[in-house]
Amino acid sequence: MSAITNHLPTSELQALDAAHHMHPFTSNTELAEKGVRVITRANGVYLTDSEGNQILDAMAGLWCVNIGYGRNELADAANRQMRELPYYNTFFQSTHVPAIALAKKIAELTPGDLNNVFFACSGSEANDTNIRIVRTYWAEKGKPEKSVIISRNNAYHGSSMGSGSLGGMAPMHAQGGLPIADIHHIDQPHWWAEGGDMDREEFGLACAQKLEKAILELGEDRIAAFIGEPVQGAGGVVIPPASYWPEIQRICDKYEILLIADEVICGFGRTGNWFGCETYNIRPDIMTIAKGLSSGYQPIGASVMTDEVAAVIGTTEFAHGYTYSGHPVACAVALENLRIIEDEGLVEHVRDVAGPHLKTLWEGLEDHPLVGEARVIGMMGSVAMVPNKSSRAAFASDPGTVGKICRDFCYENNLVMRHVGDRMIISPPLILSIDEIDILIARVRRSLDQTYAELQAQDMLKAAS
Ligand SMILES: *Cc1c(COP(=O)(O)O)cnc(C)c1O
Repeated sequence: MSAITNHLPTSELQALDAAHHMHPFTSNTELAEKGVRVITRANGVYLTDSEGNQILDAMAGLWCVNIGYGRNELADAANRQMRELPYYNTFFQSTHVPAIALAKKIAELTPGDLNNVFFACSGSEANDTNIRIVRTYWAEKGKPEKSVIISRNNAYHGSSMGSGSLGGMAPMHAQGGLPIADIHHIDQPHWWAEGGDMDREEFGLACAQKLEKAILELGEDRIAAFIGEPVQGAGGVVIPPASYWPEIQRICDKYEILLIADEVICGFGRTGNWFGCETYNIRPDIMTIAKGLSSGYQPIGASVMTDEVAAVIGTTEFAHGYTYSGHPVACAVALENLRIIEDEGLVEHVRDVAGPHLKTLWEGLEDHPLVGEARVIGMMGSVAMVPNKSSRAAFASDPGTVGKICRDFCYENNLVMRHVGDRMIISPPLILSIDEIDILIARVRRSLDQTYAELQAQDMLKAAS
């Protein structure tokens, strides 16, 4: 494979990046010393870096490039839209065709009467919108004291002040004064890490019942909504016990609190249905969407609400919006993305073809000496690495030490797989073929073998006491 030559040498790009570019969720000084990886192009499920390496992207960028890279149809849609109407706003009694068409399409695809779309440019913005929607909803119903939103520890809902507060990431809350007022966190349904002596289903039920406990403690008259990802993504692809969501739905119904499903990752086919709430049989009042909505080709997100929620907040002027809410180019690109998902049957591909094959091979990783459990739903999966397969004990080293070692071996093996602590996670493009799944699994196995050998050599196969 010859290196791409139409740019500066890698070392110069790295030096310029280190000099001027601050990276998200990164220790920039450390990265500058190590040298950043420069991605120059991509096609299908493969990235190409500035050295010409072909890297299998098992994270679909950041969980978003569901239809894969290199889709000229989306570039053409953007080009057409930019020539016709590159921008107009949707604030002051105006609209345009791409926003109308995309809102209608989203209403058709989402279940039930989730028919009303408020556009944003990202998942974070959509969740900020949701905070204001649910509080405005209750204020309009004459119950302004219902302002508390309950979320979970280790949830991820975005990185703005509002959405970062909804999330339950301790390192994020430690910086910059989060969370904002009236956000309450309960335990996550993470059986592997927190299930103790309970069996999985018993634990799932107990976790869900913590919602009821919180409602009773804080006062039913104070609670506006509960928010959750059907499957936690950034928290480590935490697939909830089957007992969890039905109990959450029961509690939300009983106390009449709004249920927000954050479908930013789970939406648009990831779990083998159009939406994660279909996989888990829940009925959200509001849905957050982004990422797979445009497969990452344009920044766009939205809050989708039921007819009832829309009717209530529609009675006042909702003093909220973004300059680029319903940006015509982003809408046109998202529409083309949804057309491809439908025309190519990508949801069915995940459900009937790629998903089952991945599940068989992924769960087969449990025969590896380093793997405690390997779970997958649709096209998202996680592997818990353990020092000792006979218990769920963590490594003696700081959490994430082993995960980083494995992640670095993955890079060497031309595989992008992410680590969350000492869990390895994947969320590949939905177009992944059977052959590509086999290549993926071979690279994962090689990386796990190398990690295991390294841990043996460094005497790190020890459990925390
Ligand atoms: C990525 C993500 C977000 C935030 O989306 P951005 O577009 O990064 O702002 C929100 N919720 C979930 C579940 C996510 O995975």
